[in-house]
Amino acid sequence: MTGTSHADIPMLVDRIVIGDELADAAGGEVFDTLNPATGQPLATLPAGTAQDVDRAVAAARDAQHAWARRSPATRERVLLALAERVESAADDLARLESLDVGKPVSQARAIDVAMAIDGLRYHAGMASKVEGRTIPTSRRYLTITRREPVGVIAGIVPWNFGLLSMTAKLGPALAAGNAIVIKPSPLAPLSSLALGRLALEAGLPPGLLSVVTDDGSAAGEALVRHPAISHVSFTGSPEVGRKVAAAAGEQLKTCITELGGKSALVVLDDADLQAAAQAAFLGIFINQGEMCTASSRLLVSAQVHDHMLDAAAVAARSLKIGDPADASTVLGPLISAPHRERVERFVESGRQSGAELACGGARPPNAPDRGFFFEPTVFDRVRPDAEIAREEIFGPVLSVIPFQDEEEALRIANATRYGLGAGVFTRSIDRALRFAEGVESGNVWVNAYNLLHPAVPFGGMKHSGFGREGGFSGMVHVTREKSIWLAG
Ligand code: NAD
Repeated sequence: MTGTSHADIPMLVDRIVIGDELADAAGGEVFDTLNPATGQPLATLPAGTAQDVDRAVAAARDAQHAWARRSPATRERVLLALAERVESAADDLARLESLDVGKPVSQARAIDVAMAIDGLRYHAGMASKVEGRTIPTSRRYLTITRREPVGVIAGIVPWNFGLLSMTAKLGPALAAGNAIVIKPSPLAPLSSLALGRLALEAGLPPGLLSVVTDDGSAAGEALVRHPAISHVSFTGSPEVGRKVAAAAGEQLKTCITELGGKSALVVLDDADLQAAAQAAFLGIFINQGEMCTASSRLLVSAQVHDHMLDAAAVAARSLKIGDPADASTVLGPLISAPHRERVERFVESGRQSGAELACGGARPPNAPDRGFFFEPTVFDRVRPDAEIAREEIFGPVLSVIPFQDEEEALRIANATRYGLGAGVFTRSIDRALRFAEGVESGNVWVNAYNLLHPAVPFGGMKHSGFGREGGFSGMVHVTREKSIWLAG
């Protein structure tokens, strides 16, 4: 594999998007984003600051008033045009996301881009679906509620699913009549910048969607604190989420946080083991395990432990690691050198904890040496209180934890500060429902894992965050309810 030159980037994405302008940062500062497969610079981008945020928010306020007065049908049409434009650029967007994040291009196309398009189409329809209520109070009054847009929204997105997270925020925001300013992660901002440009090409009124990049937290912090921002929609780590929620709270802004996870996939003794093994494999090794819902803890009944461990280790050993641009690659590099070092520290902690290393645990010998590759790794007999069983590793590292009975499985599943995803494999509907009810998790899958749909509320419990994206639950956050009393 050779270093990627700027000419390899499939779309022109080197400017921030403010109003109808593609601009440099006001201060003229720049930063590089790297190609994780080669460790080489991929693009040089504007390092935005509070000044750029001020301009983006001013453009958003101007545009939002007119947008909120457009008919729902018009908003729906514009969002459908955006979905159409994204679909026509789907292959380029997938290549861009793959280059910037290191995820295999096949996954970027089938997951990130496909789901982004579905989400935009679904939320286009929401423009005409959000309704108020008529409340019976007294015969003398007609009491109704309206759901109104909140104004200008801050959308702060992470690097692992930048495009998807951005569309999950802008779809509902714009459908409801708001404007939104997106702040992507400096580690993988290209798809967000590309989507900002595509929106202008699709006819979205300028200012409704701005994209401001930064090299750390300058623009993100300024955005959250900006007095004209009414609502903050944050996706990222609990550490930053806590700061963002505190800053929003200080100004009495509403906020939702979609944070990390340490999800358990539980395999009971009566499970379809083949289906469970397939789900366990996809749950931890897709996207290099850099997934908030990664099933990083595989809880297996002692009766099926050996079978499940073998299946996980065989699958991990056989998956193809390499160039994300190659259609047959299953596992690409991790996002950055510091992130790989962090994953390596967890692996060392796993070794020290007495867990048995079943496979992986090192940098792959045959992968390009300047890329941030790491082997798919399986630890067996991990103690539920070991660090690797408690903390989000955000890499292809699976902890297999045996249990004796259902009660113990549930206790271990809940023994984490996180509560994002959980799965259970069993042929018994009673056992499945008992687990689904008892598990402290925002999303539960039975005989499946990681199913997502734009109509279904997605979000966490405990330190995995609060608020929901998707469906009517998501629309609640981007609208505010007004009660109107009419005296007859
Ligand atoms: P991160 O918290 O480091 O950064 C997220 C975003 O916040 C980035 O755009 C970053 O630049 C910005 N930011 C950093 N400091 C800020 C500040 N002080 N004020 C405002 N913005 C600031 O997270 P990350 O490393 O980009 O993403 C990985 C994390 O995201 C993992 O924990 C993962 O589980 C989580 N995640 C959650 C979901 C979900 O839906 N629950 C989805 C994807 C990722």
